[in-house]
Amino acid sequence: MKKIGVLTSGGDAPGMNAAVRAVVRAALANGAVPYAIYEGYQGMVDGGHRIRQMAWQDVGGILYKGGTVIGTARSEAFRQRHGRLQAAANLLQHGIDNLVVIGGDGSLTGANLFRQEWPGLLAELVQNGQISPETAEVHQQLTIMGLVGSIDNDMWGTDISIGADTALRRITDAVDAISSTAASHQRTFVVEVMGRRAGYLAMMSGLASGADWVLIPENPPNLDDWEDKMCSVLKYGREIGRRDSIVIVAEGAQDRRGNRISSEHVRQVLQDRLGEDARVTILGHVQRGGSPSAFDRNLSTLSGVAAVDLIISGELAGQAHVIGLKGNKIVHTSLEECLQKTREINEAVDTLQFNRAMELRGSGFRESFQTVRTLVRAQPHQPQPGQRQLRIGVLTAGAPSPGMNTVVRAVVRLGLDRGHKMIGIYNGFSGLVSDQIEEVNWMTVNGWAYLGGSELGTNRHMPANGDFYAIARNIEKHNIEGLLIVGGWSGYEAALSLYNQRTHFPAFNIPLVLLPATIDNDLPGSELSVGADTALNSIVEAVDKIKQSAVAARRVFVVEVMGRRCGYLALMGALASGAERVYLHEEGVSIDNMRDDVALLKDGFRGGKRLGVMIRSEGANDTYTTEFMCKLLEEEGRGLFTARQCILGHLQQGGNPSPFDRILGTRLAAKCIAYLEEQIGQPESQSACIGLQRGSYKFTDFQDLPRLMDVANGRPKEQWWLNLRPIARMLAKPAANGQLSVDN
Ligand code: ADP
Repeated sequence: MKKIGVLTSGGDAPGMNAAVRAVVRAALANGAVPYAIYEGYQGMVDGGHRIRQMAWQDVGGILYKGGTVIGTARSEAFRQRHGRLQAAANLLQHGIDNLVVIGGDGSLTGANLFRQEWPGLLAELVQNGQISPETAEVHQQLTIMGLVGSIDNDMWGTDISIGADTALRRITDAVDAISSTAASHQRTFVVEVMGRRAGYLAMMSGLASGADWVLIPENPPNLDDWEDKMCSVLKYGREIGRRDSIVIVAEGAQDRRGNRISSEHVRQVLQDRLGEDARVTILGHVQRGGSPSAFDRNLSTLSGVAAVDLIISGELAGQAHVIGLKGNKIVHTSLEECLQKTREINEAVDTLQFNRAMELRGSGFRESFQTVRTLVRAQPHQPQPGQRQLRIGVLTAGAPSPGMNTVVRAVVRLGLDRGHKMIGIYNGFSGLVSDQIEEVNWMTVNGWAYLGGSELGTNRHMPANGDFYAIARNIEKHNIEGLLIVGGWSGYEAALSLYNQRTHFPAFNIPLVLLPATIDNDLPGSELSVGADTALNSIVEAVDKIKQSAVAARRVFVVEVMGRRCGYLALMGALASGAERVYLHEEGVSIDNMRDDVALLKDGFRGGKRLGVMIRSEGANDTYTTEFMCKLLEEEGRGLFTARQCILGHLQQGGNPSPFDRILGTRLAAKCIAYLEEQIGQPESQSACIGLQRGSYKFTDFQDLPRLMDVANGRPKEQWWLNLRPIARMLAKPAANGQLSVDN
């Protein structure tokens, strides 16, 4: 029977608890024995009660908690060989030779060393009589799975580390709040965020918040006179009407000579040269704290499960690997390689080799930095003589989705910066019919980065009959050469209808690009759509509150979430909130299912369970509605529990977009502008939708779209996330006795 130790080490990060929960429960579900090692490596060195066998219930109710419930520490003893010798002896007392280490690059460096030394440590323990030769023989190899828990996202081997998304939320919330007070007083704020050698948080919060200047360690400002340049951009911004000025500085920001650029220095420069009242806000530990975002919970959960799967399968026995995320796929890479590459990046930053540092950070990082540079400008570049000037239309269509404004702002600014005329079409396709069309400029979209809803206006109008003629006339009248449609399912259908009318209306022979923006995440050609992450967070926050409301009652909640017949929000919401059951249209709902669920719930409540949460996708079944299910549970649970329904409704569509959605939207927008530039003027121009597919951004030609769409159910034929259902099921109930746990 495999014994697996799990520990959290180094700086804490939101999401660590979800990872611990996943490791413990996945181990139990696979017949392994999980142990928690409390207080990081120090607990391993101390042994005794710091190494404890874990049961299913021990990790109940921790998913939503920030920090780490098993504690973390910095251990000087573990840096010494004799400390690691003691740690090995303590692990072997329990027969543990598999470790899941959740921590930053320091912790993982320690883990790598420990694994390398393991045979030597065992030999020494045999020699001094602490363990028997047989024990050493049985546990010859130590297997390590590393999960990168670090808010800075400073490690190679994963697109994003556990905690970084939550930290970005804290930062963008703070910057959004500061922007409004800054705007009221026409004040300038310098916001310092974490990241000693990593500019990820500074850069992405700059991208997501509409900051005016960003300073990161990997790519210091080009010129010796960067202060002048920064001041002139801010000054010009003021002159053309920006009321707030925000500069984001990474704590490790430096100039090209390696001199630190402190937030205080930036403030002083702004005050001296602009004569403005400038203030510094150092965000500090708020960035680390608080409940993890839905993304971090799911990243941690899936990584924890993957770590256990790899240990159980034995395919990496005796090795050390890092579990990471590429696109939305969990991958693993040798720990040695991850540490080596991370060291190279750190060295490049320390030795002022900035091109090398940016190279090693990867293309996504470089592109984002380029985009930030453009978006923060106070005005577009002057068009070069002879530069192509296109007329590009943009509209939002379908139900509102958080992030639509972020996309439009990015598209407009990136387009203008490349010399194009940007044409805003108000009120979706109905505006295209009724000529609610006008040119938009740089300042039209100022402040849109963080606004929910759609400032352009959006609706589900589907062009029909005479509409096509009016649309053709307006496209010609405004000389629109390419059109970007930001929207959901009905936006896609409307765009396809124009495309299909091309033979009748030559005006429609312009390239159309679709950018997926709907909370439902039900669009073909993209694994994720803009808005879904925000909605998921709204769901998870609501479920957290619902759970707290029921502390004293013995109660089951049936929570209905949006998505029509696409169960993405329901499943991912269940995974992130620890619901015990999820009902999806994709799986169907039958009376037999419900009978089984009632029986399980009854057993659970008889065994001391206090709360049950079932998440039901709104379109799961037309007959067995949320109300019906709730009444059924109420009736059947009489004497054991009561039941309540909770329909989350439109709160899922509202709210300011999450940084994840803002970043996704901005990156998609940049690709769409490039695509339109490429297609406009081609004799056989193409139309396509953009999307995230296996970690990269791809365009799917309109001709292929119908083949990918399940039109009857309004969702793509293939949905990657359906593969996560067994994990959601496994974590909700222990396989051994089939009972629901007392607390999820
Ligand atoms: P983080 O994991 O967040 O980067 P630290 O760098 O503080 O945090 O590392 C956490 C712990 O990992 C340290 O207190 C120490 O016990 C262990 N550790 C770090 N580096 C090493 C190393 N080179 N050798 C052995 N142990 C190490």
